[in-house]
Amino acid sequence: MIQLPWPDIDTVLLDMDGTLLDLHFDNHFWLEHLPQRYAELHGISRQQAEDELLPLFHAHAGQLQWYCTDFWSRELKLSVRELKREVAHLIALRPDADTFLAALRAAGKRVVLITNAHRDSLSLKLERIELAPYFDRLISSHDYGFPKEDQQFWHALQADFGFDPARSLFIDDSLPILRSARQFGIAQLLAVRQPDSQKPPKDSEEFAAVEDYRELLP
Ligand SMILES: [Mg+2]
Repeated sequence: MIQLPWPDIDTVLLDMDGTLLDLHFDNHFWLEHLPQRYAELHGISRQQAEDELLPLFHAHAGQLQWYCTDFWSRELKLSVRELKREVAHLIALRPDADTFLAALRAAGKRVVLITNAHRDSLSLKLERIELAPYFDRLISSHDYGFPKEDQQFWHALQADFGFDPARSLFIDDSLPILRSARQFGIAQLLAVRQPDSQKPPKDSEEFAAVEDYRELLP
């Protein structure tokens, strides 16, 4: 059971994929659907497709362009936007994420979505899931030109809306991103125990992890 000091928290920063939304969509898209459609569109085998794609994915992980649909569309000579639409029915909220968001609103917290997702991916998700009404701001790190892994992202975020890191909570399923937020001074940090509903729970190492949003309600 996680006990958060709610009276000392006035800003809640939330990641999207794997935190509020089931990471199954993204994992399925990048590891199953995209290799399959890449193989079909380029007339190669599924194995050849994976042999070409996986080293590219590894080479760009954690960089802003990893999250950029335009970059991958150019690199892979296909429309990532269109291919994502083919599996958009898999976009889903994590259990009780909406209950948590509604409770944050009711408690008068300032709530900001901060995602490394490209604006295209963000729009597709907001079309499927009504997240926007819960937030004061929806921020894509592409707006600033730095991913959340980079300290410059946090400086840009603070310059943009002036939050107090010592009175902020941040939840994200990525441990490198949580470490980046910790370095910037965000006081309350939580990981996510099971970002992908189709995969086993994750070890969150030095971070406490959200198991059930109903336990966190302010
Ligand atoms: Mg995430």
